[in-house]
Amino acid sequence: MNHDSLPFGSRTRYAARMPTARAALIHEVGGGFVPGEIELDDPIGREVLVDVRAAGLCHTDLTMAHADVGIPMPAVFGHEAAGVVAAVGPEATGVAVGDHVVGCLVQHCGTCDRCRAGRATLCRDPGATLRGPDDPPRLTCGGEPVHQMVGIGGFAERVLVDERQLVVVSRELPFAQAALLGCGVLTGVGAVRNAARVRPGDAVAVIGAGTVGLSAIAAAAAAGAQRIVAVDLALEKLDAAREFGATHVVDSSATDPVAAVRAATGGGADAVLDVVGIEQTAQQGLAMTAPGGGLYLVGVMDPTARISPKLFGLIQAQRRIEGVYMGGADPRRDIPEIARMARSGALDLGALVSAEVGLDQIDEGYRMLHDPNVVRVVVAF
Ligand SMILES: [Zn+2]
Ligand SMILES: [Zn+2]
Repeated sequence: MNHDSLPFGSRTRYAARMPTARAALIHEVGGGFVPGEIELDDPIGREVLVDVRAAGLCHTDLTMAHADVGIPMPAVFGHEAAGVVAAVGPEATGVAVGDHVVGCLVQHCGTCDRCRAGRATLCRDPGATLRGPDDPPRLTCGGEPVHQMVGIGGFAERVLVDERQLVVVSRELPFAQAALLGCGVLTGVGAVRNAARVRPGDAVAVIGAGTVGLSAIAAAAAAGAQRIVAVDLALEKLDAAREFGATHVVDSSATDPVAAVRAATGGGADAVLDVVGIEQTAQQGLAMTAPGGGLYLVGVMDPTARISPKLFGLIQAQRRIEGVYMGGADPRRDIPEIARMARSGALDLGALVSAEVGLDQIDEGYRMLHDPNVVRVVVAF
């Protein structure tokens, strides 16, 4: 049907026949996740209707739910979704009904020079994955438009997503594990493979051993890194880091992490990944970097943090500092590769899923993440 021809005011009639879905809605900043019902439009263009089976709780959603960053309300948050394709738009060619898919927040057009070069995170036209201003909204609640976080809005039984934000995965992969592939795991593995380009024999240090850090550690091990040093404040996380492939662990609450990493790596790491992203960790990360090596800024807990390296120190020792957004990933290239890593046993995705909660328990699920034994909590449908 031609949605452009719908006369203004027909929304109510139109909405009455739209499919509905239970969703966790944010109505106001700081108001928490409130169960409700949304209506979804039919897929147009390259859109795909997905029955969501699992959605990961990412800190980004929580941060944005509590800070006014200009997101229109009401909104459906959640961007780590996995599910089954229920319907496809007339121009979608990459997925079929019944496919198991993973959502990815990297919005990319797929056709610009950067996308074609495999640099989807630098796409010149990420808005190509969204509806235009003249199209009816994808989601409504009681007829009112609902904002869809990063084009996904995974805290809902159903999502309507552009196919460029979906990657088909094996039907054998459990949904709760698949859900993690589009954000945290992709960020960690991508940083090692696409940015640091870790090679056999390298020494790698990873500051922060949550989902991203553990994924990076597993990827470094798979790439043949000889020494992998995990740095964290929580002993539980350091235990997990060993299981993911860390050869050394540093409890930075008790030890000077710079001296410890230098000692463990024989003078510094070829690649240091700062997954925490505060001034102190970035500064320490630079001091842990071997001559010729790189500090990769992967996570950011404090967006205002800054560091001030001495220019000559960088030049003389040929160190680099590189920002890595979403693992510098091309989702369609990297997510299937990570799924293969998981299948081969190189990455224990199951160990990252600590607990599953219902759609009406999202606030509770986020509280569970304060426990250092909890890596990831997933909403299961
Ligand atoms: Zn995320
Ligand atoms: Zn592009």
